[in-house]
Amino acid sequence: MRRTVFNEDHEAFRATVRAFVEAEVVPVYDDWYAAGQVPRDFYYKLAELGVFGIRVPEEYGGAGIDSHKFEAVMYEETARAGVTFGGSGVHVLLGLPYIEMLATEEQKKRYLPKFVSGEEMWALAMTEPGTGSDLAGMKTTAKRSADGTHYVLNGAKTFITGGVHADRVIVCARTSAPREDDRRFGISLFAVDTTSAGYSVGRKLDKLGLKVSDTAELAFTDVKVPAEDLLGEENKGFSYLGRNLPSERWGIAFGAYAQAKAAVRFAQRYVQERTVFGKTVASFQNTKFELAACQAEVDAAEAVADRALEALDAGELTAAEAASAKLFCTEVAHRVIDRCLQLHGGYGFMNEYPIARLYADNRVNRIYGGTSEVMKSIIAKSMGL
Ligand SMILES: Cc1cc2nc3c(=O)[nH]c(=O)nc-3n(C[C@H](O)[C@H](O)[C@H](O)COP(=O)(O)OP(=O)(O)OC[C@H]3O[C@@H](n4cnc5c(N)ncnc54)[C@H](O)[C@@H]3O)c2cc1C
Repeated sequence: MRRTVFNEDHEAFRATVRAFVEAEVVPVYDDWYAAGQVPRDFYYKLAELGVFGIRVPEEYGGAGIDSHKFEAVMYEETARAGVTFGGSGVHVLLGLPYIEMLATEEQKKRYLPKFVSGEEMWALAMTEPGTGSDLAGMKTTAKRSADGTHYVLNGAKTFITGGVHADRVIVCARTSAPREDDRRFGISLFAVDTTSAGYSVGRKLDKLGLKVSDTAELAFTDVKVPAEDLLGEENKGFSYLGRNLPSERWGIAFGAYAQAKAAVRFAQRYVQERTVFGKTVASFQNTKFELAACQAEVDAAEAVADRALEALDAGELTAAEAASAKLFCTEVAHRVIDRCLQLHGGYGFMNEYPIARLYADNRVNRIYGGTSEVMKSIIAKSMGL
């Protein structure tokens, strides 16, 4: 089906990103994979490419384009090449929406130029060792000082993408106890400088997939956070999270669809080259049927991902629609990538083949940003169930 989401500018950007990935990422990706992270300097290259500033207003050093379509192009191009940009994905996907929505003029002037230049990489810390899906249960606290100049942060976070390299982390913490009638009350958001005394990065976690992404534990011991780094109003953090989760979930949905599309491409290429019993794997009817079924699923996921992208750009993507897109696209990707791996036989299990890495990388899409079960709960609620 003809796609209508992208125009000439997006296609020109696609060509630039494709060339960049081929030159700067593909040749060194194995080294990143072995090191378990992207070198910090690479983020300056991404900044030079202009990818951090696309949606940032011009007065703060960005391009001022109010659209997620360029990000969508990047998801497609990285998946196509079988690579990722490591933990830097959260900088724009998770960090920027909070600055856009909550930062004061003074904060924007302080944060955004360094955000665009890659000097300050951002991450978002919601999850704690004891609570992920049930965010209202978080235990990290931020106590306001008597003179109101700062907050004292104590607690721990885990699974934080970009947590090793991050220079500023949006930390969700309790500033007040929950109300009896509202467990979500009392959470606030802080843009915490990671060089603050008492802030420490724990283990870089050893994961099943997303090997080049620096996912870390964080700990806070009496970290003094200046009051100027409170984002938005005190105690309203949960509603801010709720407002930004649709864009995060769209990003995961779109990324998963792009991975499924790439998997079909990898498999299609492989089965035409590999011969068994004297003929190509592509010549078996089972292979044709498998790939045809996968293509049909990818087409459907593409339509959903594109529609969600248009709705997001129009400011109309609801929580339930984002949940639905995430559920659908990530479940499609899970099925499609598995079937495409199967067509590779034993080579599909080898990390030197992109399909193997894609299989491992994709698994978390049904977990982070809210699990598939949580997505179903949100959709069911919107149905009045
Ligand atoms: C690689 C990776 C990167 C991540 N990056 C970040 C990050 O940058 N920042 C951040 O804050 N977090 C991050 N996370 C955390 C992620 O968002 C959580 O892991 C996720 O929300 C699930 O929470 P949990 O792990 O505590 O699982 P749990 O909440 O303990 O869930 C366990 C099981 O219970 C099920 N369950 C939970 N609630 C319900 C329900 N109501 N009904 C039915 N079943 C339910 C879940 O679906 C799941 O199957 C990351 C996680 C991973 C793995």
